Amino acid sequence: MSQAGNDSWTRMHPAAAAKRGVRRAGHGPDKNISNENQDYLEMARTNDLKFIFITGGVISSLGKGVAGAALGCLLKSMGYTVSMQKLDPYLNTDAGTMNPLQHGEVYVTDDGSETDMDLGHYERFLDVHLPPNSCFTSGYVYSSVFEREREGTEGEYRGKTIQIVPHVTDMIKHMILRQVLYRAQIIMVEIGGTVGDIEGLPFLEAVQELRGDLPASNSLSIHLTFLPYLKSSGETKTKPTQHSVKELRGAGLRPDIIVCRSDEEVTEDTRRKIARTCGLPFDCVFESRHLEHVYMLPEHLADQALPEKVCEILKLSQEPIDIAPMKEFTAALKSLTETVTIAVVGKYVDQEHSKASGGVRKRNTYYESYKSVTEALTHAGVRLGRKVEIVHLEADDLAGPGAMERELGPCDGILVPGGFGERGTELMMDAIGSARTGGKPFFGICFGLHLAIIEYARNVLGRPTATSEELRPKLAPDAQDFIYFMESWFSYRSASLVRRERDDDIGGTMRLGLQPCFLNPGTRAFDAYHGLHKLARRRGWETRRTSSYVYKAPPLTEANEFFSSAFSKALDPEDLDDLAERAARAGRMTVYERHRHRYEINPIYHEALTAETGGDRFVISGEAPDMPGREPDAPAGTPKLMPPRIVEIMELEKHPWFLGCQFHPEFLSRPLKPHPLFHGFVKAAVEFKAKR
Ligand code: GLN
Repeated sequence: MSQAGNDSWTRMHPAAAAKRGVRRAGHGPDKNISNENQDYLEMARTNDLKFIFITGGVISSLGKGVAGAALGCLLKSMGYTVSMQKLDPYLNTDAGTMNPLQHGEVYVTDDGSETDMDLGHYERFLDVHLPPNSCFTSGYVYSSVFEREREGTEGEYRGKTIQIVPHVTDMIKHMILRQVLYRAQIIMVEIGGTVGDIEGLPFLEAVQELRGDLPASNSLSIHLTFLPYLKSSGETKTKPTQHSVKELRGAGLRPDIIVCRSDEEVTEDTRRKIARTCGLPFDCVFESRHLEHVYMLPEHLADQALPEKVCEILKLSQEPIDIAPMKEFTAALKSLTETVTIAVVGKYVDQEHSKASGGVRKRNTYYESYKSVTEALTHAGVRLGRKVEIVHLEADDLAGPGAMERELGPCDGILVPGGFGERGTELMMDAIGSARTGGKPFFGICFGLHLAIIEYARNVLGRPTATSEELRPKLAPDAQDFIYFMESWFSYRSASLVRRERDDDIGGTMRLGLQPCFLNPGTRAFDAYHGLHKLARRRGWETRRTSSYVYKAPPLTEANEFFSSAFSKALDPEDLDDLAERAARAGRMTVYERHRHRYEINPIYHEALTAETGGDRFVISGEAPDMPGREPDAPAGTPKLMPPRIVEIMELEKHPWFLGCQFHPEFLSRPLKPHPLFHGFVKAAVEFKAKR
């Protein structure tokens, strides 16, 4: 079976959708959610699309996301196109405003959604760019319902009483079903939380209705549970699983497959007991054991023939599984002996966790706040044959006499990841300064870049009042805002000028998602992308479709549509055929990276930052393409408002590797395709270590 190009989401063209009788989502009495759901269901039936619903029981943090992603990876390796979606029952509109210490990192997708960190697992395991709307919350569902309710008798609810069933459940079904537009053959849907949570009930109800709406062999329910192990009696207990399944059945959902999470091996006896008490065949009970590395999970599940069982139930042909590259990756990961040590100096480090280890800082502990950064470092390390030892530091760890040297001295590189707010920033800048003056590799991501710029302005350019609008008090007459609030920018995704006010809502007012960046030749950034791109080509990896290696072509995600419409709407045809071509003509390379920021390097200081100092100086290695020459939607007569130039990457000219980027490269790193900038940084750290 041919690989159906899983990383490209060819969204059905609206005209084609109309032909198939799919009405556009919208308001008004003749466009209603339940009609649309019928159309989507019809499409699902006609195209024989398969749905896999994943629920979790007993306790939270079972690793449902990883288990689902591992199964997705296996199904993809059989040649099926797989998409994954996460439904989060909490009431936040999205994950954007959530504290990463509570809920893990906020993961950003191409379309700029701020999502749950599980989406990161999906994308890393499946090596895809997920389509829009791959994550939604109760909060989002409810606000969509409320919005329609306010339309009163004019709207689609026609003044009816709004209820959880059918209005909220229909909306949930709608948000699941519209994934059919992306034409994946298998649509995996993970319901966040634990069965039994109050917020989760409408989701379970929606899923059980959907299962009823779909032909029997087109949906599958997988329940992931936890088997506690009692040391004193040496037993693995199944009772919580039985209760959880009972609860699930109470909600109208019968599990077809149970996957047991356990720290110990799940014996045949235990599996038989679960099968008997939960009413499923013995060969439908699987285990997901605690493994040394998450990337071993696909192998572990494949060994138990889970994907074959899934195919059998869904009546899909059982294609051979090919996970040789993933196996190679895990084998390499396990065999790493030489190390390189990287300090990640952040703000959302779980201090309790480090204290729990008896005051001894645990290295390589799973810190979820910087999950993608941790993974990206690991991916780069494997490619370089190094085990990356990550030392997670809170800025506070660097306070006090000798702390900086004690903590950072042994590290071969310093990374300052994304972050918000003033706390800890002075110490973070001291850490950055130590890398700058000590010739130690430094990598700043978004906030890390901002702090590196301020540190340089203060200590090299001699401007003690240099700061960021984000960090200073509102009224600070002397402040030199090297980092300032972006009021407007040109979005290549929406082909429009975006404007923001300083006191806009905190949620969703950032420059988010995939945007193009031109790389300037002769810079380390250019070489990093270019070098890895060449290597990828030599080894025959698919390069066009992954942003990390995009060369002259945007990834084939929905962004493509955005981009092409951006060009046709916003650019004069004679200007250029295509953005990347313009870049190529100037000897530049275009890459597409994911963003999430409100502040940006102030263009009035670009000159000062790049000026000769006698020592080192900054170089602009990447920048957002200029805005097309006119403002697309400006009514005639309004003054032209050109958004300023946005710097995307800056690096120090003479330092071995001191580079910061405005975007989040960690979101595009994959086990088999490390991100070029992470690769460049870890490589520099390896070289630094060798010279010590
Ligand atoms: N707080 C900064 C901003 O809003 C940086 C954000 C980030 O690091 N993602 O621009």
